[in-house]
Amino acid sequence: MSRVYNFCAGPASLPEAVLEIARDDMLEWHGKGLSLMEMSHRSPEVVGVTEHAEQTLRELLGVSADYAVLFLQGGASTQFAAVPLNLLGDKAGADYVNTGEWSKKAIAEARRFGKVNVVASSESTNFSTIPAQDSWQLGADAAYLHYTPNETIGGVEYFWTPQAAVPLVADMSSTLLSRPIDVPAFGAIYAGAQKNIGPAGLTLVIVRRDLLGRASTHCPAMLDWKVAADNDSMYNTPPTFAIYLADLVFDWLKGLGGLAAMETINRRKAEKLYSAIDNSSFYANPVELPSRSLMNIPFTLADPALDKLFLQESEAAGLLNLKGHRSVGGMRASLYNAVSEKAVDALIAFMRDFEQRRA
Ligand code: PMP
Repeated sequence: MSRVYNFCAGPASLPEAVLEIARDDMLEWHGKGLSLMEMSHRSPEVVGVTEHAEQTLRELLGVSADYAVLFLQGGASTQFAAVPLNLLGDKAGADYVNTGEWSKKAIAEARRFGKVNVVASSESTNFSTIPAQDSWQLGADAAYLHYTPNETIGGVEYFWTPQAAVPLVADMSSTLLSRPIDVPAFGAIYAGAQKNIGPAGLTLVIVRRDLLGRASTHCPAMLDWKVAADNDSMYNTPPTFAIYLADLVFDWLKGLGGLAAMETINRRKAEKLYSAIDNSSFYANPVELPSRSLMNIPFTLADPALDKLFLQESEAAGLLNLKGHRSVGGMRASLYNAVSEKAVDALIAFMRDFEQRRA
């Protein structure tokens, strides 16, 4: 067996140590005579794994009992609708910051349910910046303020937390668990699992309990956070195998020393790649320095005619999924938690070699 280096933006690389445990558990989980995914979601085994996953996640992120942790389905895209359905209450609308493709998707979906006030947009810089908070035009009567802490496509990340008088809501799909966050600053946090959490099919929501119970009368039960919280995420059959894998990922993170230790590693990885890009006239990254993502690093080649060859040769060298998102082109390397420093070193070595041969 030979495993390649995978820089996919999602579904992304998973820790090998986790996959090995899952492999060993596949036919029979802990001497029970069957795999976990063949068990009832109401069995003590699956309930136990789910409770353990929630507990470990709370420890990793510092989530207090004031917040509910929900294991849902439908991806972050479903939460684009669930957020306004749960939080608009009697307000006409909400504030949204537009910093890229995922902000735009969240905004478009929220418009189905209420008035969206775009408080600031970085579209005029081609989403290579984050508008300073003192330029935001906050609404007078917004139900909440929504933003996207890490834009997976543009590679733009906030290293500060917006101040808000209303509940702050964050789509943390591509940054959650990459470094510590200040959970008490948030009303609600949501994330699709398929980057730093586990396999696709699981969606995490962390919501302050006092915000539960405000859902619109039109909100489907499956999207109502209170229904999920009241039923310990088992209103219907949850994605049990994805929760089990996420639980293993949480244990793996804890074993590494938690999110502060992970941040040190992630910063080292990203800094290596950015400096390789910046020290070459062959590669470029368009994002303003203070907002460069630790997780998703887009870069272009000086001559786009070489893009195809770069992708062919990198793939042949065992470096997979470096193609940029179809909406922006160029390349993108996603350096999630499970992408090792060795993988980043191999990518940089390949980039230098390619440049020497083609520049
Ligand atoms: N938000 C962000 C920041 C994302 O990166 C993604 C997926 N790449 C989504 C939302 C959509 O997530 P899902 O596919 O889980 O609906």
